[in-house]
Amino acid sequence: DSAEQIAGFFASKEESKEATNTVHKAFNSLQLSRPVLKGLAALGYTLPTPIQSATIPIALMGKDIVAGAVTGSGKTAAYLIPIIERLLFKNSRIPTIRVIVLAPTRELAIQVADVGNKLTRFVNNLTFGLAVGGLNLRQQEQELKKRPDIVIATPGRIIDHIRNSTSFYVDNVEVLIVDEADRMLEEGFQKELTEILSLLPKKRQTLLFSATMNSRIKDLIQLSLDKPVRIMIDPPK
Ligand code: ADP
Ligand code: MG
Repeated sequence: DSAEQIAGFFASKEESKEATNTVHKAFNSLQLSRPVLKGLAALGYTLPTPIQSATIPIALMGKDIVAGAVTGSGKTAAYLIPIIERLLFKNSRIPTIRVIVLAPTRELAIQVADVGNKLTRFVNNLTFGLAVGGLNLRQQEQELKKRPDIVIATPGRIIDHIRNSTSFYVDNVEVLIVDEADRMLEEGFQKELTEILSLLPKKRQTLLFSATMNSRIKDLIQLSLDKPVRIMIDPPK
């Protein structure tokens, strides 16, 4: 898949223009809450990256997004910030899994959890959980029994938990993030992704990120997203 094909795919939609022309605004003009702004400052993030300025306002509106952006463009905070903002206003005290972030590998999932924990340093009552291979299954099960707000998972391991742990249920999931969709398909997770999508509530927000575009990803977009806004970020020159 050439860069041209990818650009063509995204350019076919009107919204992409608007999104890519977004001005590089400061974080504090994105209407974020104080604890999140403090978390960003603690991380040393002063200005949003292009994918962050384009994605955050649209995600905060609750829309589905398909975003094309290369590695290193700052995708993690681009999706974690709107999720955290949404959960700050959660009205229920009952612990339940509200967000699932799917990542292609355990290492990436752990990195996402690390950024999440740093971003929420000044946020109360927001919990992260991991569902990834290579860590002790029973121990993970115990952690997940507490029903963290945000579960960061690899597709294979989350399926394990859904199938084998009666206390693990995804009926209250409001947001699904698919990070590095292209890599996830390369790792052979197509069947797992389809199964996960079939188990999640239909009424949810979904954000999908991919550095490249091909027909299998288009199929996945078709299956998982509802009238998505398409955001294309040019790789740095
Ligand atoms: P991607 O997921 O697109 O590969 P990451 O979210 O891992 O990108 O971010 C890449 C690097 O850029 C990380 O080291 C991260 O800490 C840093 N980073 C992300 N956003 C910002 C920002 N707004 N300001 C400064 N550094 C940032
Ligand atoms: Mg990433």
